[in-house]
Amino acid sequence: MKPRAREILRVERLSKTFGRVPACSTVSFSLRQGEVLGIVGESGSGKSTLLRCLAGRIQPDEGKVLVASDDHVVDIWAMDEASREQFLPTTASLIHQNPRDGLRLDISAGGNIAEPLMAAGGRHYGSLRATALEWLEKVDIEGWRIDDLPEIFSGGMQQRLQIARGLATHPRLVLMDEPTGGLDVSVQAKLLDLLRGLVRELGIAVVVVTHDIGVARLLADRLMVMQRGRVIEEGLTDQVLDDPHHPYTQLLVSSVLQV
Ligand code: ADP
Ligand code: MG
Repeated sequence: MKPRAREILRVERLSKTFGRVPACSTVSFSLRQGEVLGIVGESGSGKSTLLRCLAGRIQPDEGKVLVASDDHVVDIWAMDEASREQFLPTTASLIHQNPRDGLRLDISAGGNIAEPLMAAGGRHYGSLRATALEWLEKVDIEGWRIDDLPEIFSGGMQQRLQIARGLATHPRLVLMDEPTGGLDVSVQAKLLDLLRGLVRELGIAVVVVTHDIGVARLLADRLMVMQRGRVIEEGLTDQVLDDPHHPYTQLLVSSVLQV
């Protein structure tokens, strides 16, 4: 029997309330290497809040976010801020819906890829540039654009560059918030193909948040459905989408079929 892949992330009873809004309520799940977990739910259901708690951006009120390190497990919200800020950038990447939130628009495309590599200890100019070129190729951006500013790229290219910047340091965990959300449908389809290929090739653990059931079906092995901050259904993607049990999931799935 094949040994089970290593657990990369475990979330235990995570909760975050804004004022009186329980954005995220006692959410628990775990994720193994090579696995893609989709989080679906309508706007306001708490998907981004959950993801931002996992990425170290919002401190939860309660609960644990346990992330695998080289030889032990780290509870990111039990660490002091300085250790968390040192640990997370090389371990977990957050890919934003709007590439402008995840890129440095004032430095070149190559610089955008090299910057996190340098933060992780890369020093040699030639090898940083070679790695940046490799990554541009992986995300279908022509190498001659390496010195261009991302400002002049199309939305689809900016998103591909953000993905290259996020993956180049080989994080073991990648957190994506509506990665295809702001793009035209034809550009979305190409980007989804690219993401699928990269996830397979790199064997990373991914949490992908989307309100788009089509995106979830294409990318995710497992799904969690959120409503008002709670996980109301979860399972293998095909199972959840082909035989939804909760009335809210049934509504989500059927509203897609009608379009
Ligand atoms: P989703 O990503 O599923 O659309 P969010 O996580 O953005 O959902 O939001 C969940 C709930 O938390 C919503 O009711 C939203 O208005 C509220 N919320 C999110 N962020 C904040 C914030 N910074 N301040 C106050 N309320 C917030
Ligand atoms: Mg959101």
